[in-house]
Amino acid sequence: MKTLVWVEHEGGTVKDATLAAVTAASRLGEVHLLVAGEGIGAVAAAAAKIAGVGKVHAAEGAAYGRALPENIAPLVVDLMADHDAFLAPATANGKNIAPRVAALLDVMQISEILSVESADTFTRPIYAGNAIATVRSSDTKMVITVRGTAFDKAPREGGAGVVEAVSGAGDPGLSSFIAAEISKSERPELTSAKIVVSGGRALQNSENFQSIIEPLADKLGAAVGASRAAVDAGYVPNDYQVGQTGKIVAPEIYIAVGISGAIQHLAGMKDSKTIVAINKDEDAPIFQVADIGLVGDLFSVVPELTRRL
Ligand code: FAD
Repeated sequence: MKTLVWVEHEGGTVKDATLAAVTAASRLGEVHLLVAGEGIGAVAAAAAKIAGVGKVHAAEGAAYGRALPENIAPLVVDLMADHDAFLAPATANGKNIAPRVAALLDVMQISEILSVESADTFTRPIYAGNAIATVRSSDTKMVITVRGTAFDKAPREGGAGVVEAVSGAGDPGLSSFIAAEISKSERPELTSAKIVVSGGRALQNSENFQSIIEPLADKLGAAVGASRAAVDAGYVPNDYQVGQTGKIVAPEIYIAVGISGAIQHLAGMKDSKTIVAINKDEDAPIFQVADIGLVGDLFSVVPELTRRL
């Protein structure tokens, strides 16, 4: 089977979630990549070195620079004439592109796979991760998104793929890029950080979030996350949200501060290796998944913890 993986890249680097998608693709068969964008020479060369990669299709052009699904999907559909499965990381951009590819190919999408059981059978979470479905595809072309935390990352070195230029129709004029507001941070990226410190509604406002959660994260070299309640209340931006409708994380250590542990939050972090919960309510559901629990008022225990680290 020939697979085609869409490569998400930024600043000339292949993003980690793509490496997990490559591992998933390698369980299905031959791995080909699609690198699309503007000035992609270096990233295509880097992608060719990823272990297990046979070929890199490089689509150069301003039309592909912003990963607009309206522009990328027709390119993928053309390449799918010679591939059996299309895989994309289940990131915001991957989840934007894959459904459009599936619609254009008139096949179903298999979303957020957790494992490859055989050439046509996969597992994927349903009911916010409370049940795992085993799904079998009968489509001749498969369109799959891959949960990055469920697969090891393919090594960035060790491959000897061939880079081949491809051209597509370019910009069909269906959408245009206006602007991106990117929050800049010195901290590690939330989905790939080894440690995550997340705050919840209990922080009460953004000033408390900054003065209590961020110093602890900085001491630990951790990324900062949040519950949806904290995001909805405006304490932090939307891209901090962990959970069913936020980001899925599985760090070595996840520290939940003033978060109750609603099922939708757990869906985004319960695969973390060690979960630490700080909550003043000893009956809070978060303690049911926590490896280490501290019952106390976060306004006193977190600054104390930060001081002692
Ligand atoms: P609360 O549930 O209000 O919990 C606050 C906690 O702080 C309590 O346990 C309390 O005991 C504790 N506390 C209060 N004061 C202190 C103190 N001084 N010191 C220590 N502890 C204290 N939620 C997500 O997080 N992510 C999602 O992706 C998400 N998606 C959703 C999708 C849908 C369709 C729906 C319906 C909901 C979703 N939610 C999501 C919302 C979710 O159901 C919860 O409402 C939310 O997670 C609650 O956030 P919280 O734990 O911060 O707040």
